[in-house]
Amino acid sequence: MKNDNVRPDDLKWRCCQCQSDLVVGQVAVTYMNNRFTTDLPHCPVCKTVMITEAVAMGKMAEVEQILEDK
Ligand SMILES: [Zn+2]
Repeated sequence: MKNDNVRPDDLKWRCCQCQSDLVVGQVAVTYMNNRFTTDLPHCPVCKTVMITEAVAMGKMAEVEQILEDK
């Protein structure tokens, strides 16, 4: 399992809604009408996914690669 987009800095974040510590794990993401699961920091309580700009950029590039491979 690749985890390049999850950095220690990401784990300093807390959920902006319920102040829970974020955890890294599989979450479902929808992008360009494609649904897939990937590892991202997210809130275990309310399921809010924390996507920083850097994560989004890397993840979108990764997704586009996946789509091209199809
Ligand atoms: Zn939360």
